[in-house]
Amino acid sequence: MLDPIRKSARTIGFVPTMGALHQGHLSLIRESKKQTDFTIASIFVNPTQFNNKSDFDNYPITLDTDCEMLESLSTDALFLPSVNEMYPEPDTRIFELGGIDLVMEGKFRPGHFNGVAQIVSKLFDFVQPDKSFFGQKDFQQLAIIRYMTQSLGYKTEIIACPIIREADGLAMSSRNMRLNPDQRKKSGLISQSLQKAKEMADSGKSLHEIRTYVFQQFASDPEFKIEYFEVVDTASLNELHELTDSKDKTACIAVFVGDIRLIDNYPKF
Ligand code: AMP
Repeated sequence: MLDPIRKSARTIGFVPTMGALHQGHLSLIRESKKQTDFTIASIFVNPTQFNNKSDFDNYPITLDTDCEMLESLSTDALFLPSVNEMYPEPDTRIFELGGIDLVMEGKFRPGHFNGVAQIVSKLFDFVQPDKSFFGQKDFQQLAIIRYMTQSLGYKTEIIACPIIREADGLAMSSRNMRLNPDQRKKSGLISQSLQKAKEMADSGKSLHEIRTYVFQQFASDPEFKIEYFEVVDTASLNELHELTDSKDKTACIAVFVGDIRLIDNYPKF
């Protein structure tokens, strides 16, 4: 299907997703349409990147509305493969990911990034896009994909798109659909505490003081369980001990709200 596009020298933009689409996903489609001639999205809930079976089993699926949303933006094509198509046999490849897979998400979700690398490499092989669009919401995933693209010599250019947020600051996520109204109301605290942490950093507070503040925010409500809050060097993803250890920093957080795990980050921290 994509051969005629390539032969006519039109550029292909690719937006891989796991569906349950929201405005964050649509911002990637819009950017792809701006930058390329033909935009293809994919929807595939990739089993190999879930380290938690109930997270996989409960992952929201809203295919009809997804298609309507993609059509409303005149997305040129949707790739909707089955598990058998993507994994006709078990994928036993282990990717070398430069150590950036060992911190934060990698520490708490063993095997997650290897699964991401498996599926993204297969999707790149299928689609062979000129440009691929990813959200900064998944900051570490973006770093992993950049690393993999370079180390495996994929020709696609990786384009990073900004985080799209709800009015109260909560980063849009398919998993937000699973929050009950009370949990949804509380979840604004995640981005609000990142915002406050940044203000503390700007006013000269130490990383230790900032960490203590952030952990305290989630300590009193049993609905919350903070998994990590780290400030890392944006390029190496090394976890910092002092804010002065790096000039370009990103603050990253993972919090359980009930059994729903949400992540967020603050670039240029
Ligand atoms: P997912 O369907 O969660 O795998 O996400 C597919 C793509 O959408 C990834 O590149 C995500 O980083 C991106 N994405 C998800 N949420 C947002 C958001 N709130 N803002 C921008 N991009 C997002």
